[in-house]
Amino acid sequence: HAGRPAVTAGRFAPSPSGLMHLGNARTALLAWLDARARGGRVLLRIEDLDRDRCRPEFAEAIRADLRWLGLDWDEETPAQSTRDEAYHAAVVRLDAAGLVYDCFCTRRELAVASAPHGAADEPPTYPGTCRDLTAERRSQLLAEGRRPALRLRMPDNLPRVVDRVHGVVEGSGGGDIVVRRADGLYAYQLAVVVDDAADGVTDVVRGDDLLPSTGRQVALAAMLGVQVPAYAHVPLVIDEDGVRLAKRHAALTLLALRKAGIRPEALVGAMAASAGLGEGHPARPGELAGGFDIARIRRDPWVPDAAALADAGRV
Ligand code: GLU
Repeated sequence: HAGRPAVTAGRFAPSPSGLMHLGNARTALLAWLDARARGGRVLLRIEDLDRDRCRPEFAEAIRADLRWLGLDWDEETPAQSTRDEAYHAAVVRLDAAGLVYDCFCTRRELAVASAPHGAADEPPTYPGTCRDLTAERRSQLLAEGRRPALRLRMPDNLPRVVDRVHGVVEGSGGGDIVVRRADGLYAYQLAVVVDDAADGVTDVVRGDDLLPSTGRQVALAAMLGVQVPAYAHVPLVIDEDGVRLAKRHAALTLLALRKAGIRPEALVGAMAASAGLGEGHPARPGELAGGFDIARIRRDPWVPDAAALADAGRV
């Protein structure tokens, strides 16, 4: 049994499927502050599992945006697109323990989103259709040319998660999750657990859209026998309509804000204030790290005002 690594290590784990927006930036700032306040390391890992949607130009733009904000990192660990061997090895271990099975259900049958991250808000509960397929039925489906996904047997009761922002979060219903899609792509849930363990991440700070997935990730880590990091899920950034910022909120990308003349210190100060840290005066990240405690950040989502930000940024 490995103890908790002595050195705190946090991480940025952006998906390069678009430009960085204020929501990603704010989460990155909080992750950076959490690690640096304790003298910890910060890692960068590009989460480009989804080859169709991710592009190297976006990864490069994200690195540039992080640097512009003053958020540095000690090491960039391998991108997810290069880690298939590690994911394969994890699947072999799960298989040896009898924990995975072929699932032939189509997306239409399940009527669930397939995006590695898109499904994270409300993980649908798999009804268990293929859990106990007979060998004959399985051979028959394979003979018909159906390609199965690989699904993981989840315990009926998921472990509770002690989140550093939300406190105790009881494990909700299990539901078997896909660990490898029918097209061969490994699932985000598997990749993130394997990667955080391999990278030695001790503290995950990420958006609270992923809180509902965390119990499953903790269960998966236990099945793999790897270290479970501490979690802190931070509030999202939303627009005036209550919609979570996404790639389509072009006005709130760092690129757009930079072009509008806002300075990085103004943005950092505003993002920090939105989390209850300081009065919103321009600041470098390092000036905010002293005494930072993620358990005390504001819990309500932030609704930024692009025009006000730009005004503040120009003065
Ligand atoms: N790559 C995910 C995202 O960009 C983050 C996953 C995580 O932090 O665990 O939303």
